Amino acid sequence: MSADEDPGPPPPPPRLRVAVVGAGPAGIYTAEALTRQQEVPVAVDLIDRLPTPFGLVRHGIAPDHPKMRAIRDTLHRALDHPAVRFVGNVEIGRDLSCPELHAAVDAVVYTYGAALDRQLGIPGEELPGSLAATALVAWYTGHPDADRARVEAALARARSVVVVGVGNVALDVARVLARTPAELESTDMPQHVLDALAAAPVEHVTVLGRRGPAQATFTTQELRELGELAEADVLVDPADLELDAAAEERVAADRVVSRNLAVLRDWAAHTAQPGRATVTLRFFARPVRLLGEDRVTGVEVERTVVDADGRASGTGETTVLPADLVVRSVGYRGGELPELPLDPRRGTVPNDLGRVLRGGAPSPGEYVAGWIKRGPTGVVGTNKHDARETVATLLADVAAGVVRPGGGEDDDLVAALRANGADPVLLEDWRAIDAAEVALGATHGRARTTLHEWESLLAAVKEAAARTR
Ligand code: NAP
Repeated sequence: MSADEDPGPPPPPPRLRVAVVGAGPAGIYTAEALTRQQEVPVAVDLIDRLPTPFGLVRHGIAPDHPKMRAIRDTLHRALDHPAVRFVGNVEIGRDLSCPELHAAVDAVVYTYGAALDRQLGIPGEELPGSLAATALVAWYTGHPDADRARVEAALARARSVVVVGVGNVALDVARVLARTPAELESTDMPQHVLDALAAAPVEHVTVLGRRGPAQATFTTQELRELGELAEADVLVDPADLELDAAAEERVAADRVVSRNLAVLRDWAAHTAQPGRATVTLRFFARPVRLLGEDRVTGVEVERTVVDADGRASGTGETTVLPADLVVRSVGYRGGELPELPLDPRRGTVPNDLGRVLRGGAPSPGEYVAGWIKRGPTGVVGTNKHDARETVATLLADVAAGVVRPGGGEDDDLVAALRANGADPVLLEDWRAIDAAEVALGATHGRARTTLHEWESLLAAVKEAAARTR
């Protein structure tokens, strides 16, 4: 080039290519944080095992909480960003290994959540009629992998239900089971779910807390809702609400706990009304055995005492609660992804501010956010702050030269996936599923009905593609 030749504008800086594994709230907030920062241009592939985005917003938040579920409209804005590409129906570890993914992009953020259930570790837990809350929630939200036969067989005989755990998921389960068909009619639950819930003979739901009301992890709004059920009364034993000094201290120090106690005390005067279902909250009670020969018939429960540090121990005093269905709602845990480290005790990927640790040392270009980073805690919005922290860590690594934009080998991840035999579902395909769900809902006068089978989800994509061909 001669000295007077115009060199033209400098080439644009290379884009930082990031794959985010899991399109739930943590993944979507990660994509959003990446697109909102100004330090480096980005291209984000937001990968999900399902052909649908939103993770627990779609398959966790209870369908009778439409306002909470509406957060998907806000989350959708991040999906619509031109620097973000939704790549659904792709399972990392099956369609592409973690190392292959890592080689194809500059950085990977794992946000695949904590989809597995925790066990109680007591005899009888595997009997028919005993379900994990994760199984029931997957079923009533229309998750395509839900074990429909097991859940529906358990529900068909469920007159007396025991829910173990006093977190918000336990309250979701108790509330959904105690609702009338009319209360669920307008939800996006699949029709077979509405039919099975309407046919289930639920009369009594008992929610069991192994510690006291001062240690329960549910929040007040969710608790209060139990008192608003159309045809069920909430019962609490006033003796469970008598607090010792340590519990009183906890109540005084924590506004959520003190509000919870106020709600529970209002209910302590309730008695069961004839012809109505009951939801009983029992504290200081831990299950020690599920009873039954070929299916659950009851739960042996031991009375507990809680010490000044909030630890429960058994008193040896046991009672039997009749139960045709037991739902254990004792928390979630993260599963292993082949070739990604996992702390099996915590069910999280070892990390430092979101940087994946391998053998205790940071692994360049590998990050985590959401439940697989911090464990199954907090509400949807908690993931926003969490994702920002991880993105700040990633950007610090870019600034330090640990992660280099434009270093990934493969410029088109989707082409590489297709070459591997995968059938990625992109944003316009998700829109086809979305439209099919809205159309299905309209046939029943509802805003939406969830498509609950892999075949119907993928058929909606294919039918839309055929129409535009
Ligand atoms: P969680 O709040 O951790 O509740 C788990 C419950 O299981 C606790 O009561 C725990 O008691 C109990 N538990 C654990 N192991 C037990 C055992 N071996 N025997 C008896 N009880 C046992 O978890 P979650 O309800 O699954 O909810 C997960 C997260 O999602 C939470 O952050 C929750 O707030 C959030 N969420 C929010 C909403 C909402 O905002 N509406 C709805 C659903 C979920 P201990 O405390 O004694 O361990």
